[in-house]
Amino acid sequence: MTSLNNDTILNPDIECASRERIREIQLAKLQRQVKHAYANVAWYRERMDEMGVAPDDIKTLDDVRRLPFTDKTVLRDTYPYGLFAVPLDDVVRLHASSGTTGKPIVVGYTKGDLDVWAECIARIASMAGVTSRDRVQMSFGYGMFTGGFGLHYGCEHMGCMMIPASSGNTERQLMMINDYGSTVLIATPSYAMHICEAGEAAGIDWSKSTLRVGLFGGEPCTPALKREIESRMHIVCTDNYGLTEVMGPGVSGECLSSRHQQHIAEDHFLWEIVDPKTGEPLPEGEEGELVLTPLDKEAFPVLRYRTHDLTRITTEPCACGRTHARMDKVRTRTDDMLIIRGTNVFPSEIEDVLAGIEGVSPHYHIVVDNETGLDRMTVSVELLPEGMHDSFEKMEAFTKRVADTLTNTLLVRPRVKLVQPGTIARSEGKTKHVEDLRRK
Ligand SMILES: [Zn+2]
Repeated sequence: MTSLNNDTILNPDIECASRERIREIQLAKLQRQVKHAYANVAWYRERMDEMGVAPDDIKTLDDVRRLPFTDKTVLRDTYPYGLFAVPLDDVVRLHASSGTTGKPIVVGYTKGDLDVWAECIARIASMAGVTSRDRVQMSFGYGMFTGGFGLHYGCEHMGCMMIPASSGNTERQLMMINDYGSTVLIATPSYAMHICEAGEAAGIDWSKSTLRVGLFGGEPCTPALKREIESRMHIVCTDNYGLTEVMGPGVSGECLSSRHQQHIAEDHFLWEIVDPKTGEPLPEGEEGELVLTPLDKEAFPVLRYRTHDLTRITTEPCACGRTHARMDKVRTRTDDMLIIRGTNVFPSEIEDVLAGIEGVSPHYHIVVDNETGLDRMTVSVELLPEGMHDSFEKMEAFTKRVADTLTNTLLVRPRVKLVQPGTIARSEGKTKHVEDLRRK
């Protein structure tokens, strides 16, 4: 079954099911999942006993609200195996999130969990038009991070030819695209941009390349950066959403009819949108914190995981034919937010603003300090060759214009440093945009 935009619906029976049928599937799976967590994970059993709720009390989907939330702290406190619900002999894979502070979060998968994951990834790849005939160059690193293996096995499951390039060595990446005829590139958006620029510098004409699709992940991708990569590399790029704590990539993905919104695999994930402060549910369409309950997890069942990601969700029909709810691209992980002199600043907003200013690239780096006693934010912005002026006055005026434009959106005035093209470090994995040097 193919929709107008050539995005293929992998499993139409489920992906196009009626809303009523989706809810039936979700309720049956939720009841099973709650029983599983209660019976096999002491932490859930104790919390539910304290709250006076038993697995049999879950009679409708709304009853999910009677269950305890799970957050990152619980996952850290039970490190490494405290929330596992099956004997370790049944676990066939471990992954972990990179802990920026303290211990990482460790998650496990049974064979069944890996099958569900592969199906979710195959769906999001199909949404971007990927088929079994594609040659997929994997430029994520493998390792504990869920992105590499998750996307690898999902695309292999579809029958794609996998090229496990792994991250780094950009010259070799370009050689592989050219020699092996890669048609799909899996990368972080910032690394895809780096490959694009390196290719241009090496004289590659991207319009003649075999590459046609970019599957992005691992870090947020602004619409502006995506558009830039699409036009310069002559490919279609889609983004997907997921997090290690509930599975990894593949929770939701972008179809080609509804760009910038992502269909949630609702037969595998129950979503809620709650007020981030109170945890109370919000009506459909309002922006709030995404809370996810995976519905098929055997090794690592998680109930009501608080993602700290802000989004809004609609169950309105989509032009592609899929009936699964769509979430807006997450506005930000609330974790990434900086508080500068009492104002919330989202680094992704800086990238959006820069994309709208002629003469600068979307590459930036933020340093925050409080040496003078007050929070001070310095944004280094890379010039494009056309943004360079030979007179000092013109450069000063341009710097001021960039600072003014940023101030209008951020509501905090940054110091702006314009730097030479190509001088901001390009990362081969997740880009670190912010250095917070403030002393408490
Ligand atoms: Zn759609």
